[in-house]
Amino acid sequence: MRRIIIAIDGYVATGKSTTARGVAARLNYLHIDSGAMYRALAWHLLEKGIRTAEEAAIQEVLQDFAIHLEREGQEMVVHVGDRRLEEELRRPDVASFASVISALPAVREKLVSEQRRLGRGGGIVMDGRDIGTVVFPEAELKVFMVAELEARARRRYEELRQRGYDVTLEEVKAEIAERDRRDETRPISPLRRAPDAQILDTTHLSIPQQIEQVLAWAHVRIYAPQPS
Ligand code: C5P
Repeated sequence: MRRIIIAIDGYVATGKSTTARGVAARLNYLHIDSGAMYRALAWHLLEKGIRTAEEAAIQEVLQDFAIHLEREGQEMVVHVGDRRLEEELRRPDVASFASVISALPAVREKLVSEQRRLGRGGGIVMDGRDIGTVVFPEAELKVFMVAELEARARRRYEELRQRGYDVTLEEVKAEIAERDRRDETRPISPLRRAPDAQILDTTHLSIPQQIEQVLAWAHVRIYAPQPS
């Protein structure tokens, strides 16, 4: 059976990572959350006291930025040096700084080459912003996830409150809209739907429904007759 590449892109809080994780579990594929890699670099820079997109300083840090992903079941967990990162990556300040530094060419170059290396050979579900357009333009299945801002803000708000962050719905909504704006307007690898991507609007869908829809599309590709 063919082990394909599934690229899931889309706006903040449309359910990309949760859907990707569920699809990977059902297909016995690996799930790679590319956003976690941008967040890991943002976290590392903040630890070093770098809080703005100073290109020269960031380039220097990148030279020996040791990011590696380790397999835990079907998940790839991000490590920087000998530190396993998980909860740190959910911090709102880390998410926001990730969206600022992800516009820098040197940052994208480094992380995109790592993502391509991880996806070689197929059998992966990778989610992000440029997976179907730049990282794996040859992916057999591309999905572009959208949802109304109100629904996305509410989901992210509930998630952050559950994790113990003291945020308001209005703050979350403004932060999401700002990250989307940055992702869509940056000159390199902006957030765009690949022309051959399936659109998945999750405004009124549950997580199981999102997973089933992506699996249905995936099955068509996996079982498609191969030219002999
Ligand atoms: O997906 P997530 O919200 O975790 O990503 C954090 C930030 O990293 C995004 O706001 C986006 O700016 C950036 N990102 C990106 N390209 C990707 C994944 C994430 O630019 N493939």
